[in-house]
Amino acid sequence: MNRLRYATQALNGMNEEQLRDLQWLRLRQQIHYCLGTSEFYRRRFSELGIDERDILSMEDFQSLPVIMNKEQERRSQQESLEHAGHPYGSHLCCAPEDVAITATTAGTTGVPTFTYTLARGDVEMLNASVALMMGHAGILPGERVLFAHALGIYATSAVLPPLRASGVLPIDVDVRGGADALIQFAELTKPVAMMTTPSLAQFLIERMPERTGRPVESLNLKAVFVVGEIGVGIPEVKARIESAYGCRGYDWIGPAGQTLAFSCDSDEYHGMHAVTPDHDLYPLDLVDPITGAHIDPVDGAEGEAIYTSLKRKAVPLLRFGSGDIVRVLRGECPSCGFTGARLRVVGRSDDMLIVKGTNVYPAAIRTVINEFIPEVTGHMRIVLTQPPPRVEPPLVLRIERGAEMRDDDLERLSARIKQALHDRVHMTPQIEWVENGALERAVTKTPMFERRYEA
Ligand SMILES: [Zn+2]
Repeated sequence: MNRLRYATQALNGMNEEQLRDLQWLRLRQQIHYCLGTSEFYRRRFSELGIDERDILSMEDFQSLPVIMNKEQERRSQQESLEHAGHPYGSHLCCAPEDVAITATTAGTTGVPTFTYTLARGDVEMLNASVALMMGHAGILPGERVLFAHALGIYATSAVLPPLRASGVLPIDVDVRGGADALIQFAELTKPVAMMTTPSLAQFLIERMPERTGRPVESLNLKAVFVVGEIGVGIPEVKARIESAYGCRGYDWIGPAGQTLAFSCDSDEYHGMHAVTPDHDLYPLDLVDPITGAHIDPVDGAEGEAIYTSLKRKAVPLLRFGSGDIVRVLRGECPSCGFTGARLRVVGRSDDMLIVKGTNVYPAAIRTVINEFIPEVTGHMRIVLTQPPPRVEPPLVLRIERGAEMRDDDLERLSARIKQALHDRVHMTPQIEWVENGALERAVTKTPMFERRYEA
């Protein structure tokens, strides 16, 4: 087994305490830099009554309130558009001329924000971690990787320059051109790996034989990297992708474009390994999504991930409430021996539903449903009859039945699914069965909800 190490070589000889000391040193420098260069941060510190001189330890810092969130970021962006003539936000700490890469969130829930803005120096941090991910998966310089995402200004495009810097040649095909174009370019360019979303990786398993008569295994890939949804973290999805493509499936996450975590080369899934603890506190700063109280990031702890940059020039984030709910895994990875923090994505706080006082994450429901493949296909929707998060019980799930399921067996299957959801997600749904193949297949992100109310 290829032991996974940190992206910055110097960290690999450090013990946990030395690493913690380095993070604290960097954090102090980052705070000082933010206050020295950004009007936004000076104002936020004063609004929240925070004095830099009172932050004497990592614990002090982590007990501060959330300094920034999406809404603050949008306001900051609007401010810089009006007064400074650029879209990066008034929390931009370098000259706008030093920005080398910028990319935005998808903007599905409001105005896109330029969160993935990197100065020239920042790009180098990402280069090292992307090169590590390629190397870990056995992708060699000079090889081609099919890069199937929404291209251009969107977030994932921020890893294209680091891919090129690692010597890998991305074959970037915009997914908005459709799955058939992807299949064509895959066959024309013979890539050794593919980077895409879990939905699309699974869609191609069905689509490719229909179009070409050949299974996806004939692409001869060494690796499939997925991002953007909970994918390989679900055992059945990992198994499906790996057996269909005949190679390892990895999931990866690049929160705010500055840090990187990815799963290791292992049959069993052991979470995404945070390989850049010198760039960001991720995922070791957690808060309760409701109360905002700090959560000790011990093994198994679950909470909203707070992003804090440690060495960023362009748009450093200090205690940024991300809305991502993660579970932290500590201790050596049982498979590859990685000693740093690992994480699993649990869901988004803005997707969270409240059913009879219980917090329910749609992704957790999907994880349980996927465990019933092949009796179900894994395609499902959560029906909302009123605006979330409150749900009048029972929560209605529309679940697509597996191809071989007989009508007589559906009732028993419903009972087993309900029991599993009751035990694991603490709610009992009502199940509506949907014919095999009837739910629309999404090319990029699979919708989680079916809304039956006037927005
Ligand atoms: Zn590992």
